Amino acid sequence: MINVTKTFLPPIEEYQKQVKRAFDAVWLTNRGALVQELENKLIDYLGVNHMLLLNNGTIPLQIAVKLMGKGGEIITTPFSYVATTTAIVWENCTPVFVDIHPEYLTIDQTKIEAAITEKTTAILATHVYGNPCHVEEIERIAKKHNLFVIYDAAHAFGVKYKGQSILNYGDVSTLSFHATKIFHTGEGGAAIVNNESLQHSFFYSHNFGHNGPTDFHGLGINGKMSELHAAMGLAVLPYMEHILQSRKEVVNYYDTHLDFSKVSKMKLRDNTEWNYAYYPILFKSEEELLNAQKRLNEQDIFPRRYFYPSLNTLPYVTSQPMPVAEETAKRVLCLPLYVDLSVDKLKEIIQLVVC
Ligand SMILES: *Cc1c(COP(=O)(O)O)cnc(C)c1O
Repeated sequence: MINVTKTFLPPIEEYQKQVKRAFDAVWLTNRGALVQELENKLIDYLGVNHMLLLNNGTIPLQIAVKLMGKGGEIITTPFSYVATTTAIVWENCTPVFVDIHPEYLTIDQTKIEAAITEKTTAILATHVYGNPCHVEEIERIAKKHNLFVIYDAAHAFGVKYKGQSILNYGDVSTLSFHATKIFHTGEGGAAIVNNESLQHSFFYSHNFGHNGPTDFHGLGINGKMSELHAAMGLAVLPYMEHILQSRKEVVNYYDTHLDFSKVSKMKLRDNTEWNYAYYPILFKSEEELLNAQKRLNEQDIFPRRYFYPSLNTLPYVTSQPMPVAEETAKRVLCLPLYVDLSVDKLKEIIQLVVC
């Protein structure tokens, strides 16, 4: 069976070596040595100024929305994983969708200002498939209207834009280290809080609001990463170069062998060093997509409809129609992409995609 992705696992001895450190210390959570070491290594690796590790990629979104959304309207993209929208609704804010650009597939920055009202508190956009949003224009709009900017950067681990980490843009960027992501800790995530005045509240929010054992700064939740998860991250991180190189080879193979008269690709923003996170292709119609999916499934190959449906059509939101996102969501399929996916398998997938 071939799935859309396959978790990269380091040699088990290397994971055990890290786990043994937690056993030796008899310390499994509450920001032990492994979590702190992983934080520092990721700050270095990614070239960011701050990082707080968390237990997944959804909790940092919810904390960000809680701290910056303040129950107001949040301008967001309809084309992302469902967690981008649920974080807003879960924190009692209102998602206000703005349609996406038909080629970049990120939020269409030219349509943001028309959606701003006196209730708007923040913009929450996704660097979808690792493709950067138009960060300069979003920053200009946010400054002008006094809004916070949150980036769901779950797909953007290691992405650089204009020579620096894409995570350095916005007030907060969030990462997911779920087992399906290019760098993972099994379950895990992080917040990069660039707005220094928010770093402290982000920190206590992820640990029940604690200020010492009996004093509390304010409301919090449990968003802590465990030592066992950090151990996986420490064992995976040394393989990032290998992971990226191998994924790049798969991407190059698709790029040179797929028939682009039948399907098309998203456009990567200029000045981007991409991370080969996903391989989305757009069919000409949903019918063609469904036919291809059926042919692949019959051979035990399971691409995924990332991202379907368009999030503005979820039953718990109200929205205007989002024609570009709705149309895109119906026609987009992510092909299998993971380390060491063989050329034989790639040939089979490519033959089945268009026929
Ligand atoms: C994976 C993902 C999340 C959620 O991350 P978890 O670690 O699974 O909680 C959020 N947003 C996007 C865009 C994702 O792809």
